[in-house]
Amino acid sequence: MATAHGELQGKVALITGAGSGIGRASAVLFAEHGAAVGVLSRTEAEVRDAVEEIQGKGGRALPLLADVSDSAAMAAAVDRLAREYGRLDIVFANAGINGVWAPIDQLEPQEWDRTIAINLRGTYLTIHHTVPHLRKAGGGCVLVTASINGTRTFTTGGATAYSATKAAQVAMARMLALELARDRIRVNAICPGWIETEIDDNTQPRNAGKADYPAEYPAGEVPLTDGKPGGSFDVAELALFLASDRAKHITGTPVWIDGGESQLV
Ligand code: NAD
Repeated sequence: MATAHGELQGKVALITGAGSGIGRASAVLFAEHGAAVGVLSRTEAEVRDAVEEIQGKGGRALPLLADVSDSAAMAAAVDRLAREYGRLDIVFANAGINGVWAPIDQLEPQEWDRTIAINLRGTYLTIHHTVPHLRKAGGGCVLVTASINGTRTFTTGGATAYSATKAAQVAMARMLALELARDRIRVNAICPGWIETEIDDNTQPRNAGKADYPAEYPAGEVPLTDGKPGGSFDVAELALFLASDRAKHITGTPVWIDGGESQLV
């Protein structure tokens, strides 16, 4: 049985978007629980920093630089991780951007394409390139970071491309849970509400207010915390649970983690 502090002992995990926010918190937590972690992002400085943090705490981590929407780069990164640690058990397709939030007639085709490429094609490529390794390990676990947007709430003005990718990610997780069950690969989706991370740096609102249907919640939009956002480690704890053997009978399930935010609408 796994010990309380070694839930992922002997496992190898790939986490995309692990340079900051939810991915980084999960990389640190997974490593603390014994996993060797492939820390993948497209920004060298943040990957290096995250790996140093993990190694500084006595954990095992490998820096991997790749854009998740680039098939060749993802294939090379996955190959490197599998060669370095000899196996792959856990895949966390987490990298994502908010992208441009704009009224639909003002959202340019290349802006639409970029959000779809990173959030949706990136999720596909992450899973596509890793499933053979999970199969080889005799089974494993895939986690996808979706959102409350597009799955329970449809109120973020202008975030149509983003929400469409998040809805599609949940559809993918449910489809693949069935497809990969015979390989003993579990697939689940994590759907966060408002979490304090660096994602605002990847958000470009442009007249988004014009696409908004105004609604006010004077007491704040996160009932459990009097309006304050959740933290990356709140989401990392859920990821750890879903990746561990404690969740061995859970697959094809979106789990919302939002302090009650998505109950408001
Ligand atoms: P973040 O910006 O702090 O982290 C995102 C990470 O992904 C960064 O390391 C970034 O460099 C990386 N990344 C971005 N594009 C990439 C690409 N093309 N290739 C490789 N790496 C790339 O944001 P976060 O909030 O931690 O976001 C993680 C996931 O959580 C995203 O999928 C996001 O949609 C989802 N999410 C976040 C919130 C929130 O409120 N923060 C809510 C719901 C869902």
